[in-house]
Amino acid sequence: MGRVAVIGAGVIGVSSAYLLARAGHDVTLIDAAGEPGTGASAGNAAQLSWAYGDAMASPALLKHLPAIAMGRDPAIRIHWQLDRDFLRWGLKFIANTPFRRWWNNTQDILRLAEQSRYELAILLKETDVEFDYRVAGKLHLYADRQSFAAAHSSVVRKNALGFEQRLLTRMEAENIEPALAAYQGEIAGAVYTPDDALGDAAEFCRQLTAWMIGRGQVSTFFGRRVSSFVQTGGVLTGLRFEDRDELHVDAAVVAAGPQIRSLVSDLPEARDIRSVRGYSLTIPRSGLAPSVSLTDVKRKLAFAAIGDRFRVAGLADIERPGAGFDVGRFDTLKLAASAVLPDLFDRSDELTRWSGERPMTPTSKPMIAASRRIKGLYINAGHGMLGWTLALGSARRVVDLLR
Ligand SMILES: Cc1cc2nc3c(=O)[nH]c(=O)nc-3n(C[C@H](O)[C@H](O)[C@H](O)COP(=O)(O)OP(=O)(O)OC[C@H]3O[C@@H](n4cnc5c(N)ncnc54)[C@H](O)[C@@H]3O)c2cc1C
Repeated sequence: MGRVAVIGAGVIGVSSAYLLARAGHDVTLIDAAGEPGTGASAGNAAQLSWAYGDAMASPALLKHLPAIAMGRDPAIRIHWQLDRDFLRWGLKFIANTPFRRWWNNTQDILRLAEQSRYELAILLKETDVEFDYRVAGKLHLYADRQSFAAAHSSVVRKNALGFEQRLLTRMEAENIEPALAAYQGEIAGAVYTPDDALGDAAEFCRQLTAWMIGRGQVSTFFGRRVSSFVQTGGVLTGLRFEDRDELHVDAAVVAAGPQIRSLVSDLPEARDIRSVRGYSLTIPRSGLAPSVSLTDVKRKLAFAAIGDRFRVAGLADIERPGAGFDVGRFDTLKLAASAVLPDLFDRSDELTRWSGERPMTPTSKPMIAASRRIKGLYINAGHGMLGWTLALGSARRVVDLLR
């Protein structure tokens, strides 16, 4: 067991550090930010979507692509770029939209989610970290008969894999979540997943890091950006920080989320990860807020009651790396959320706005692998829409790689 650095203290890095330390490694957790959980993990939709896992590149999305390309779907925006990596990513994405590929990718993601759920159950027993975790259940709301009919076959396939999902009428959905009576969006039917859970990902990062530090399981470097790798004959021997300081390590796990491209730009692996920016709005939770998690499939909005807060998250902007967020997109999100749950998001003095970049591969499957260029370097990144759900399973796979 050697000294292992984990670069990035988002959900992926913190989960990796936790399971690596448990496996007996001497772990150093590093983040450029001053504390854990400030990147993509900070304000996400909080969903632990054990039974969702659907890859983004799908037959349905392919059909919808012309409308997206023409800017007709406010929830998804593509900033076209004339660079080779963008085109390669786009072509790979399209190549993954046929049914068979989509379903294979989705099943792989579901297996990883299952592994995460298993690891989370152990973590909850072994630690006292609190992050507003709760098995809230989830309702996917379908606006029209056609999309609801398409959901039937998905439910049948997932039931066959052992996931509990049920098709409901609007009335049945309202019996499970009475706040839906006030929902202004069209509901032709709903899919209910009782076992799906939620939790505050940023709080998980902070609490678990503190828990590990408290038990001497990890050492940490926060506020330190890794700029490059030190290697001898293709074998990793250390990390170099921006200030030129070096840290000797035997292995390193890059869990830098969307920023992996700038850190390992010379590694072909990193080119397959692009940023898909999303936004969220959080308000204090009131009695009007649904308690069950909701996904409005047509508007691509996710609603979650997290502890004493209520959050809506959505939008998917495929953008240039490092482009920054667009203030106008908060209004787009607020408008869409207010159209279905009026009044809740009106008080702007109580709104917390957040934007983050999902690190996305063309298959939606994360990259959990040894680097092809540097021995001793491992990648755990590219978790896209489901990083929180997949974090602990991915961490387990990293531990297996380092054996
Ligand atoms: C709007 C939105 C909603 C979402 N909702 C959900 C959801 O409901 N459920 C779900 O499962 N997933 C969801 N996701 C996806 C999930 O949030 C991400 O997949 C996940 O947070 C990625 O985690 P990460 O640890 O890879 O990246 P990050 O959380 O971004 O962590 C990477 C860390 O690496 C650090 N870093 C980067 N480069 C360096 C360097 N050179 N040196 C040192 N440190 C470095 C950064 O500072 C950062 O802290 C959502 C995402 C968004 C944007």
